[in-house]
Amino acid sequence: MVAGLLETPAAIATFRRDLLAWYRANRRQLAWRQSRDPYHIWISEIMLQQTRVDQMGVYFTRFLQAFPTVFDLAAASEDQVLKAWEGLGYYARARNLHKAAKQIAAQGGQLPDTYEGLLELPGVGPYTAAAVSSIAFDRDHPVLDGNVERVLCRLLRIEEDPRKGAVKATLIAAGEKLLAPGQAGDFNQAMMELGARVCTPAKPRCGECPVAAACRAFAELDDPALLPRKAPRKARPHYQVAAGLIWKGEQLLIAQRPSEGLLGGLWEFPGGKQEEGETLEQCLAREIREELAIEIEVGERLAQVEHGFTHFSITLHAFRARYLSGEPQTIGCAAWCWVEPAALGQYAFSRADRRVIEQLETLSTGDKP
Ligand code: SF4
Repeated sequence: MVAGLLETPAAIATFRRDLLAWYRANRRQLAWRQSRDPYHIWISEIMLQQTRVDQMGVYFTRFLQAFPTVFDLAAASEDQVLKAWEGLGYYARARNLHKAAKQIAAQGGQLPDTYEGLLELPGVGPYTAAAVSSIAFDRDHPVLDGNVERVLCRLLRIEEDPRKGAVKATLIAAGEKLLAPGQAGDFNQAMMELGARVCTPAKPRCGECPVAAACRAFAELDDPALLPRKAPRKARPHYQVAAGLIWKGEQLLIAQRPSEGLLGGLWEFPGGKQEEGETLEQCLAREIREELAIEIEVGERLAQVEHGFTHFSITLHAFRARYLSGEPQTIGCAAWCWVEPAALGQYAFSRADRRVIEQLETLSTGDKP
């Protein structure tokens, strides 16, 4: 149900016209918006799920250089895909992209061209299916991401929390009604662009807004930024994590995480979460014993990195350590290997471990045990 200033067909037509005219005159020249290739659009929309637009260009270009077609992506190993994804985080996206590419390649290489068909692919939810079907194939499906949600809450003056299921359904219905038929790709991108650049979270620039005349929050509220109203999220727990830079001669031990779960398939300096009553050094020796069944001597702390995940955050303490005894086993990891420090760049690491490596590069060889 579209409420308020957007109730009549004439008002909706004016809204679409003003929004699309603004978008076509003002859109940013983003690398992935230059292409009409559905494969490129799909990759970009998966990347955009958790990545800021201004950080994405270099990753997008690098990924397509590595895998120019869906067949190249399907034929790659998971390690190669994770390496090309390195730095983007949320690695389940990369693993699903890889699975979906295999599925598409096995079916002839054409991306499904409908909303429903796209939803069948691993890693594609309602947002991505709407974005790809509208941008690549001009199917009439409205997108609802955080930017669009905010714009709609303000345009329609929706006072309830948009994360509630019923409110989300109202927003999707409103999006369907406002959508410009036959121009869904541009319309959706215009709504997202408006949210990103004009109708911003804290300080919407209503004076520059092309659809201010249709906006209830602008007409009726002292401060449109009061919307959307969201209940505060619970505080994320914080953990202390110890990791070992375990040397054996000139080589370091690295371990690969199990392929399912957080950071699945990535390589790491082995270690784990501190338990109550133990020091970080004790934690590290215990984790290494439990995960790899080897004994180490823990030395000094070399690096400390703060990192946030969706549901928790960590302080990662990286310790210098010396291998003592035992043959590593794959108890809590998928694989392990000893590598020269110069070869670390060939492996896909999480962002937190990559920052540890950057800090290590500033250490002299005299810091090794
Ligand atoms: Fe957002 Fe202001 Fe435009 Fe309304 S008028 S859509 S609050 S920028």
